[in-house]
Amino acid sequence: MNRFWSPIVQTLTPYVPGEQPKQTDLIKLNTNENPYPPSPRALQAMAAEAAESLRLYPDPNADRLKQAIADFHGVTPAQVFVGNGSDEVLAHTFLGLLKHDLPLLFPDISYSFYPVYSGLYEIDFVQVPLTEAFEIDPQDYQMANGGIIFPNPNAPTGRLLPLAAIETILQNNPDSVVVVDEAYIDFGGESAVALVDRYANLLVIQTLSKSRSLAGLRVGFAVGDEGLIEALERIKNSFNSYPLDRFAISGAVAAMEDRAYFSDTCQRVISTREQLAERLGELGFQVLPSAANFLFVRHPEQDGAELAARLREQSIIVRHFRQPRIDQFLRITVGTDEQSRLLLEALRQILA
Ligand code: PMP
Repeated sequence: MNRFWSPIVQTLTPYVPGEQPKQTDLIKLNTNENPYPPSPRALQAMAAEAAESLRLYPDPNADRLKQAIADFHGVTPAQVFVGNGSDEVLAHTFLGLLKHDLPLLFPDISYSFYPVYSGLYEIDFVQVPLTEAFEIDPQDYQMANGGIIFPNPNAPTGRLLPLAAIETILQNNPDSVVVVDEAYIDFGGESAVALVDRYANLLVIQTLSKSRSLAGLRVGFAVGDEGLIEALERIKNSFNSYPLDRFAISGAVAAMEDRAYFSDTCQRVISTREQLAERLGELGFQVLPSAANFLFVRHPEQDGAELAARLREQSIIVRHFRQPRIDQFLRITVGTDEQSRLLLEALRQILA
């Protein structure tokens, strides 16, 4: 505590990101990065950008990128907002669309940045418990609220909410903005972008960090009704006129355009996930059904924290959350087939 701190800073509990170790020989399955490199077309586009134009400011509106995202999703560029990672898009969403007199609703087990943004912007919130099976029940989102947000698939559980259930939430809450955080949607889910033309209160947020292997580039975006997008633009223009640099814009455009590479890498991750889920089941783990690039698992006879520590001794990092209800679980990012093999080998030794 420092006497110059504002009251907000004094009460703020900042987000604790997953560990980004300095050691490079670890098998890193803790922050849901893609094990495959980005599209070669994205790498070429960034190299060309570096050679030609870094002296100049980037386009503050990243129009080329909005167009590429609009083309991919079958919407107009005016329905697209882009930011420095979906974390920044989320931050602007909290301030621009979710800060109201009534409390914001989100699941008790979900992305741990939501309570942090709520604290930062002084937004009251209610955490709605997931069901016994760690699912979101749309009927639980009926109380008066100033907005609703949830990841789909949910993180860290990996469980997917079908579009019909999202429509129920939208229809039950016509006066609130409903934000679907689709960081992991490309690994087997159906995107709610399909609904944005029918619901003026729906905002869908996606990222290029996971399915397009560009976590290091920091590009995220939102798709929704033009009115919602305009609110985000207003916040952005009052905060940082150049959220995306030239590398980010040109690399992200190429990554959005390279659809074949994108679907190929997603398929590989999905197929590794399914095999890994099966093998973990054989080792006695309870594995929640996952539509994401990670698995959420627990072993009935092993302590979660202990298991994570034992894996770490074998140079494998997975994510463990010290949080009620899920402190026996591990969240394991789906890597390559070879990484799965090494993980399973380590687990067999630990369980022996
Ligand atoms: N939403 C969810 C649910 C996430 O798990 C993450 C990744 N930590 C993000 C958003 C943010 O991703 P990024 O800022 O890399 O786009």
